[in-house]
Amino acid sequence: MEFATKTIHAGQPSEPETGSLIAPIFATSTYEQAAPGVHRGYDYSRTNNPTRARLECVLAELEGVEHAALFASGLAAENAVLQAYLRPGDEIVIPLDVYGGTYRILNRVFQQYGCVIRQIDIGAPGQLDAALSSKTRLVWIESPTNPRLLIYDIAAVARATHAAGALLVVDNTFATPLFQQPFTLGADIVVHSVTKYLGGHSDLVQGAVLARDPAVFEPVKFLQNATGAIPSPFDCWLTLRGLKTLELRMQRHADNAEAIARALESHRIVRRVYFPGLPAHPGHEIAKRQMTGFGGMVSFELDGTVDEVVSFVSSRRFFALGESLGGVKALVCHPARMTHASIPPEERAKLGLSDTLVRLSPGCEHPRDLVADLVEGLDAVARAREGVAAGAPVAVGA
Ligand SMILES: *Cc1c(COP(=O)(O)O)cnc(C)c1O
Repeated sequence: MEFATKTIHAGQPSEPETGSLIAPIFATSTYEQAAPGVHRGYDYSRTNNPTRARLECVLAELEGVEHAALFASGLAAENAVLQAYLRPGDEIVIPLDVYGGTYRILNRVFQQYGCVIRQIDIGAPGQLDAALSSKTRLVWIESPTNPRLLIYDIAAVARATHAAGALLVVDNTFATPLFQQPFTLGADIVVHSVTKYLGGHSDLVQGAVLARDPAVFEPVKFLQNATGAIPSPFDCWLTLRGLKTLELRMQRHADNAEAIARALESHRIVRRVYFPGLPAHPGHEIAKRQMTGFGGMVSFELDGTVDEVVSFVSSRRFFALGESLGGVKALVCHPARMTHASIPPEERAKLGLSDTLVRLSPGCEHPRDLVADLVEGLDAVARAREGVAAGAPVAVGA
């Protein structure tokens, strides 16, 4: 079955009792049993729910594995993996560029429990091998990363991780299973913030954990029930609905991102554009090898002041200023003040996360409107600056 067909058909037969084409929302907490302990696979909705089970089945199919567990948020999903695998004294290796919430849960929660976090420049030669030891339980990467869209060679990281006897977790939120299949590259566990592209409409918060090996999956599945951070049947139904257009949406997101990256690249007040589809991007060759599309996100450094960035991101017509990404409606974000504000400024500088970085999540709007909105905003910043400079004794335009 091809990808787009799976999003519509996998795990979603018409409902047997009525023929309802679309899976209903099983809004129930419990299930009638024929005799004590005799039931049809469902005994309590924290443990299992038919709407959730359908969604878990589709997600597993999309990532090409057998096992998926859904959680109330991406971070609840991450928490389950970390709780399942980290004990006091255990080590986890993460790259410099990591989702702010992942950084926070590790440094503010799991460090307190005695876990050791080794944050390294994972793409730099020799660094990963030097950081791995017999105490390493997990290596955790995203690719493309948030917010700079760096690309890591997943297969190479998997080989090094396995040689050290650790497990590789890949956060596949940015690429989605359409553009990247981490299990075929050696990942042991994949996590998703379903909130983003999988849900795709900015109308829910949800997370998922997937695994190929049942023994690797089991401790996470246990924690889904034992700690109970499950999504509601309604939210699962929304995701089932959103997923049906995943391929269509991702293609438009990716086309929009590419058009925007090219337009930004030639603008005079843009210092640097981060988009793996640009040949100048340092990860372009690896991205071409391990992805089938470059994703829908674009970041750039504005060649200007933080005040100019604030003014630019606050006054776009189509890019709403907000956290999150991956919805049909475009979003813009200022990571230093928003998604990555929980990382102290000196740490941000060390991570190469500039205060003038802007992150864009183009939606499914028409590319002409999105590009025009951005160029207009950048032109306005440039004009305002040149207007100020024109009043000064030194001529501009040189
Ligand atoms: C948003 C996000 C998360 C966290 O997911 P929530 O659903 O917000 O809890 C994790 N990883 C990445 C890459 C994200 O973008």
